[in-house]
Amino acid sequence: MVTVNESECVGCGACVDACPEGAITCDDIAVIDASKCIDCGSCIDECPSSAISE
Ligand code: SF4
Ligand code: SF4
Repeated sequence: MVTVNESECVGCGACVDACPEGAITCDDIAVIDASKCIDCGSCIDECPSSAISE
């Protein structure tokens, strides 16, 4: 399960576009729906702030 470090997230939305499962929504801060996440790691690679980690 990947998690978002809320203090690092800048709300850019890059992870939303990177997720193949549509598991991430982002208003001001990215939120991951654990029930949809397949732990592929795409969001980690695309986040410019390194705000997502496993
Ligand atoms: S690890 Fe993959 S499936 Fe899970 S939230 Fe990130 S991009 Fe989506
Ligand atoms: S890519 Fe990173 S900084 Fe951008 S919304 Fe997602 S978690 Fe936040």
